[in-house]
Amino acid sequence: MSEKKIGNLTVRIERDQCIGSGNCVKIAPTVFELDDDGLVAFRSDGEDPGAEKVLDACQVCPVEALFVMGENGESLVP
Ligand code: SF4
Repeated sequence: MSEKKIGNLTVRIERDQCIGSGNCVKIAPTVFELDDDGLVAFRSDGEDPGAEKVLDACQVCPVEALFVMGENGESLVP
């Protein structure tokens, strides 16, 4: 599990669930990448692509490995 603050959003990756489909990487390549194990990870150098893209990228995950919380900790994805 790893968590990162992106703008006003907090994004959490549950790597145990990831199947490496790459959907999130296609939509938000500055936020996510597939690592050497073929599983999702945060890019360390990535720019914030904006909240809409971050939410889109997390919503397309077929196995709900990505979670997004808003400013007040409210759940936005899934
Ligand atoms: S969309 Fe989900 S399953 Fe696919 S790489 Fe991203 S986190 Fe993993």
